[in-house]
Amino acid sequence: MRNRRAALAAIAGAASLALTLSACGQSGEGGSKEEAGDSKGGTIGISMPTKSSERWIADGKNVVADLESKGYKTTLVYGEDDPDQQVSQIENLITQGVKALIVAAIDNKSMNNVLQQAKDANIPVISYDRLILGTPNVDYYASFDNEKVGELQANYIVEKLGLKDGSKKGPFNIELFAGSNDDNNTRYFFGGAMKVLQPYIDKKQLVVRSGQTKLTQVTTLRWDGGTAQKRMDDILTSAYKSERVDAVLSPYDGISIGILSALKSDDYGSKDKPLPVVTGQDAEVASVKSIIADEQSMTVYKDTRELAKVASNMVDAVLNDKKPEVNDTKTYDNGSKVVPSYLLTPVSVDKTNYQKEVVDSGYIKASDLK
Ligand code: BGC
Repeated sequence: MRNRRAALAAIAGAASLALTLSACGQSGEGGSKEEAGDSKGGTIGISMPTKSSERWIADGKNVVADLESKGYKTTLVYGEDDPDQQVSQIENLITQGVKALIVAAIDNKSMNNVLQQAKDANIPVISYDRLILGTPNVDYYASFDNEKVGELQANYIVEKLGLKDGSKKGPFNIELFAGSNDDNNTRYFFGGAMKVLQPYIDKKQLVVRSGQTKLTQVTTLRWDGGTAQKRMDDILTSAYKSERVDAVLSPYDGISIGILSALKSDDYGSKDKPLPVVTGQDAEVASVKSIIADEQSMTVYKDTRELAKVASNMVDAVLNDKKPEVNDTKTYDNGSKVVPSYLLTPVSVDKTNYQKEVVDSGYIKASDLK
């Protein structure tokens, strides 16, 4: 209740700020042009989950730029990892009369009511990166092949340990981390990874000494690095007295950084105690630097510039009564319908190919990695 009131107050503040900016003919958050009368296609509402991770900041900027290049105005809001706040922000966008919504949900099950309001106002909804569950009022889904993300992470582990080509038999110790339980992607990432890892666990070539192998035991609320660090600390204390951990499945760079902090506090990374293989996702600057420094082993690069393009094209098509391009009409059942999707391909990145994949492609500036 208190949160909701605070959220409403924040929105009222933001709305009056938008009005002020509009009166001055300046740009609102995310560079949205609020001045009246220049709308080719009206305003598109963009709701992103959090600014605490680089990727979502980039996603917001890229979607705004793509839509504006197509002649739309935009209003970009961030829910700061608070599902109630995100829902209130979307309600506000609907009241403001946006022509379409692009939503990357914080809690995928929290959107039923607000998306019914969108439907009633005839506002199409694109589910961005994370599938919104339990409502028919999601028109299209723009994302990556999320199962493949987990496969890339797990394949990297089994290759680096020498299990894949049979050059080593193990047993090796591994610990498993998953993302937030309210994010639909979490089960796809973990499912994809476990498809690869489970056979080795069954053959005891991989051993999870903590015993925590079920998704419900390994999730990390809101993808929080500190939460993961604490869990890794606890695992090292309770399950690794004389043993060493050889690999850690981590679903996201922010979580990987937390895991690495716990490992380093326990002397991993020193001469006699090498760091385990640690995976990641998103090619965030801190993690690419960590990869260059031989700490984090890999990340999964997902070009969010491409994702932004896919989502903007979907909006543009729907608003012009055209069918958006999709490449998957089977995988993403949200419990209410199978949502037509366009899925991009994620790429495994480590020290051997980061230059080509993330620097030469312009995703990260070389100077940011110094
Ligand atoms: C995204 C990942 C991201 C995670 C945490 C997921 O929904 O697909 O790219 O690492 O959220 O922000």
